[in-house]
Amino acid sequence: MNKVVLITGSTSGIGLGIAKHFAIHGYDIMFHGLEENGQEIADEIGEAHNINVAFSNANLMDPSSIEGLISDTVKLLGGIHVLINNAGIQFVSPIDEFPNDKYESIISINMNASFYASKAAWTYFKKQKFGRIINVSSVHGLRASEFKVAYIAAKHGVIGMTKVLALEGAPYNINCNAICPGYVKTPLVENQIKDQAKAHNLSEEQVVSKVMLKKQAVKEFVPIQAIADTALLLAKESSSTITGASFALDGGWSAQ
Ligand code: NAD
Repeated sequence: MNKVVLITGSTSGIGLGIAKHFAIHGYDIMFHGLEENGQEIADEIGEAHNINVAFSNANLMDPSSIEGLISDTVKLLGGIHVLINNAGIQFVSPIDEFPNDKYESIISINMNASFYASKAAWTYFKKQKFGRIINVSSVHGLRASEFKVAYIAAKHGVIGMTKVLALEGAPYNINCNAICPGYVKTPLVENQIKDQAKAHNLSEEQVVSKVMLKKQAVKEFVPIQAIADTALLLAKESSSTITGASFALDGGWSAQ
């Protein structure tokens, strides 16, 4: 039987790239996200790689929907072995203008959803003495930048959560790690370029060169493939002792 991976936010950007890589390596996949063509994306990848797939558009703002997402994964695909908490949103604004509802939704989706999903998957992981939790945090879980108070609080929180779950999971062969990318060219970043341009009063080209990649020693967007390769490594049976760690894939940003 194939192992089953649930990847939140896997019908776009980084999550989709991770899903394609896990498909190549024979995992059955629970796709998830708010994209309207989510089912089509799942079916296409399932057919191309001869794997079982399912799709859910559960809203990660709602804890009971997240519990449903985990139980649907088990119901539709026969189990759950790897959980990749990847879905996330961003909003850029100085704190005095930061809308409270945006703050709350970033904390819910980018941090609290990882708690609810990990908690619901835990019962299955513990019983089968195998579980792999991979949290897609960010270099902004390790370093701060201005105008991103909610995102940076959430991403730092996820790294703290990762360490706790690593300790609690150790007796049950459950590992938990965080991946911390620098800038990756996805829809999330495309939108940010526009917001940042407004916040910094710069052109979109200036935002990419002067703001985004300024702190990376390697002046390139991080390839999605590097994140997918790291996730696949962390999901392996042989990765049981790799736990509680944060992997910076940030072009040397956090080396400074
Ligand atoms: P993306 O916008 O391409 O994808 C985000 C996914 O999350 C989408 O599938 C979307 O439908 C889903 N989602 C958003 N809100 C949701 C909700 N309420 N309920 C259910 N699903 C929801 O973004 P991405 O760039 O691929 O980001 C993926 C992860 O990587 C995020 O956690 C992000 O913070 C992190 N990250 C991104 C970058 C980057 O530069 N793109 C850098 C570091 C970390």
